[in-house]
Amino acid sequence: MPLNIPGLLVPFHLIINPRLVLPSIIVKDIRQLDFKELRKAGYRGAVFDKDNCLTLPHEDALVPELKDAWRECREAFGTGNVLVVSNSAGTRLDPGEIQAESVTYQLSVPVLRHKSFKPSYSCISAIRKYFRSLPKPLEEHELIIVGDRIFTDIALANRMTRSTKHSAAISVSEKEKHDVQLHEYSREVNTRTGPLAIWTDGVWKKENMALRWMESSLMHGLLRLLDGKTKFELSEGLSRFVKPIPPPHIVEKTSLLSRLLGRLRGAS
Ligand SMILES: [Mg+2]
Repeated sequence: MPLNIPGLLVPFHLIINPRLVLPSIIVKDIRQLDFKELRKAGYRGAVFDKDNCLTLPHEDALVPELKDAWRECREAFGTGNVLVVSNSAGTRLDPGEIQAESVTYQLSVPVLRHKSFKPSYSCISAIRKYFRSLPKPLEEHELIIVGDRIFTDIALANRMTRSTKHSAAISVSEKEKHDVQLHEYSREVNTRTGPLAIWTDGVWKKENMALRWMESSLMHGLLRLLDGKTKFELSEGLSRFVKPIPPPHIVEKTSLLSRLLGRLRGAS
């Protein structure tokens, strides 16, 4: 597998935007997500990673344990509003788009065709184009983005977040009004809107474990540095989207040789 250059460049982007790798929600797997609640809250579409999120790496079939959750997701959002964005199926690594067709058949949702790996801006453009071409177009803030890799899936979601400036009223006391002699009391505030970034930290088959450890350590380090938190805390407004942790699943083991090869290949 070729190197994922957009993924490898993420640490440099952190210098400008250290929050790039911070998810909004962390779950073990998609069984913990309450899709009906997300839909009720105004989220109308979903982007899912494939490998180690919905399927075993390099396989096309849904992990059997996720069958009910996946059905609930498609029922909540509607099949056309759920999109798989993979760094394998639907990319240049998928000649003839055979794997993309197979995944679409197995998961019953479309697979995005894109030229550049997640989290590239070219891939983000392709995602935007897809959701804007729907009969009822969707904007970024109406999406959830779910994946098992911080440097690809979470960075992709956070890169889709945009700042918008608008005026907001300021509460000014009568004395202050007198002092400053102003008639209008408003200022520009920045509001950031974008998709909900959801990290699934459970793996169905061990792959790139050293890189995963590094991504997770960096994410937790930044949480400590930026917010003074020793562990990830779900904000109160988001807790209604998360169900209890499902029973543990058996992680498939890979040989030492394939683990070493996986580490050498880098982010996928
Ligand atoms: Mg993955």
